Amino acid sequence: MAYAYDDQNIFARILRGEIPNKTVLETEHSLAFRDIAPQAPTHILVIPRGAYVCFDHFAHAATDAEIVDYVRAVGEVCRMEGLEADGWRLISNAGTNGVQEVPHLHVHILAGRRLGRMLQ
Ligand code: IMP
Repeated sequence: MAYAYDDQNIFARILRGEIPNKTVLETEHSLAFRDIAPQAPTHILVIPRGAYVCFDHFAHAATDAEIVDYVRAVGEVCRMEGLEADGWRLISNAGTNGVQEVPHLHVHILAGRRLGRMLQ
């Protein structure tokens, strides 16, 4: 499937420095920052710098270097935030049924409280 990327989405604007963010980690190909409306005591978003709409777009179109950097960035954020002790959750919403609000790939890292058994 071909994905049309909207370069005016809010995360694209964050990547261009047009909107401030609370940065947690910057790497060559990825950026992690705190969610503006946290759903848990720790709520961090990790995004690739490249123009990818969602996870499957990324998996098909990104370079190996981008994918490795992104996966390692997620792990590094968990390590930096000390999440291994009590656990955490990784979520990536995609498209209409996934109720994706911002059309730039992101994963949510949620931690700091016991989360519900099911996602809604
Ligand atoms: P989605 O529903 O998976 O697309 O989630 C988008 C997330 O982006 C939501 O949790 C929002 O609170 C978050 N968000 C939207 N705008 C900003 C921002 O400017 N900075 C940080 N997080 C944002």
